Amino acid sequence: MTTSTSDASARRLLIVGPPGAGKGTQAVRLAEELSIPAISTGDIFRANVSGETELGVLAKSYMDSGEYVPDSVTNDMVRSRLAEDDAKDGFLLDGYPRTLDQVEALDGILAELDTSLDAVLLLVVETEEVVGRLVERGREQGRSDDTEETIRRRLEVYAEQTAPLIDVYEKRDLVRRVDGMASIDEVTTSLREALTDR
Ligand code: AMP
Repeated sequence: MTTSTSDASARRLLIVGPPGAGKGTQAVRLAEELSIPAISTGDIFRANVSGETELGVLAKSYMDSGEYVPDSVTNDMVRSRLAEDDAKDGFLLDGYPRTLDQVEALDGILAELDTSLDAVLLLVVETEEVVGRLVERGREQGRSDDTEETIRRRLEVYAEQTAPLIDVYEKRDLVRRVDGMASIDEVTTSLREALTDR
């Protein structure tokens, strides 16, 4: 059996891309293959919204308008999640960090845990296609932030606040780009290859 030695250690990962790029779907698949937890801040917020926790009530107002939940809240939530036992040997963060402040916070959190990121997987997609996918998901899953107006706002917020992160990680030579427009299986294969290609 041939295994890539370079990637036995690539287990501290981010998956990045605009809303609707398929991050959540791919994160779950890849994380399962790597036996690491997929940690989606959006999912954690949604679970809190459903459970009507204090955090959920706060997050809902931002989520429903397509804005980001404040960094201080989000950073604390990720700090405690990454300190859990199952994240000790690796994790795939989906939807975090999303602002430059969150990048700094994550650097701090990982430094406290005496570790650092191995790679940032970037899903590249076409914006108009993504709007179509999200409108459909809104219909199927009844997600209250998947209306066309909110989707457009989320894409704007992504371009303004999240796209700049890619440059930061690019400078650290961590970014691995994958075409997100292919079929779900093909994208999973490309992501796997992107992790073993070095
Ligand atoms: P997602 O499921 O990743 O698309 O996230 C859905 C919504 O949750 C976003 O539009 C934000 O309102 C909120 N959210 C998720 N992750 C973050 C984050 N890292 N920072 C701030 N808000 C977030």
